[in-house]
Amino acid sequence: DMEVAIKVVVVGNGAVGKSSMIQRYCKGIFTKDYKKTIGVDFLERQIDVNDEEVRLMLWDTAGQEEFDAITKAYYRGAQACVLVFSTTDRESFQAIDSWREKVEAEVGDIPTVLVQNKIDLLEETFINSEEAEGLAKRLKLRFYRASVKEDLNVNEVFKYLAEKYLQR
Ligand code: GDP
Ligand code: MG
Repeated sequence: DMEVAIKVVVVGNGAVGKSSMIQRYCKGIFTKDYKKTIGVDFLERQIDVNDEEVRLMLWDTAGQEEFDAITKAYYRGAQACVLVFSTTDRESFQAIDSWREKVEAEVGDIPTVLVQNKIDLLEETFINSEEAEGLAKRLKLRFYRASVKEDLNVNEVFKYLAEKYLQR
């Protein structure tokens, strides 16, 4: 059996929880102020999907979301994408379209999932559930509400992406 390895990029505005999500999924931990280890480009985790071993390599940005030249290099060769916005940050929700376009421009139409993170802070939200679902529908994406902090739906996001990738 050939081993399947998938480069996954986690994309969205600063502070939505991208680094925390990668750390949670690959190391099983959550810390309040995660700082990316210098020199580490990605973390990985191996899972079984339909009796196949899949190695997910989750690429993180070092908080340089605003710099196009850096993000372009980061997207190169990506085979799956997580688009993340935060429950407590309306701008991060409004920016999803532009993140999707950036990724598509670089790598085309790859398996992608939309995630609303920090669902544990739902009482502080400025985004109603209909508009979040509307966005997912318009972009034709599977939508998950997640809390990296509470470890809610994080595994499901990556399992879905791996399955979607294998179905190509
Ligand atoms: P990034 O800039 O997108 O990589 O975001 P970070 O992973 O650095 O997270 C930004 C802040 O949000 C940190 O203080 C995290 O601890 C916090 N955070 C991440 N995920 C969650 C979550 O699900 N719930 C809550 N309450 N805070 C979170
Ligand atoms: Mg980060």
